[in-house]
Amino acid sequence: MTTSPLAPTHGVCLLCKTPSPTIDTLGPDDEWRCPRCGQLWTAARVKGAAAYAAWSAEYDRVAPLAAVTL
Ligand SMILES: [Zn+2]
Repeated sequence: MTTSPLAPTHGVCLLCKTPSPTIDTLGPDDEWRCPRCGQLWTAARVKGAAAYAAWSAEYDRVAPLAAVTL
């Protein structure tokens, strides 16, 4: 994986894509609750979710559903 550990959120809630002016700039003690899905975001949670999203995208590319045999 070549992405930075601080993957950008593109200024949106990582769950429902509601625009947030602050989600990319949360400090260690800051939090932002998404008005649409109710997810409470902290800097650590954003970082973890962004990292998972990047991993998931990479995994889908490397191991597509064709690997599943039915
Ligand atoms: Zn949301």
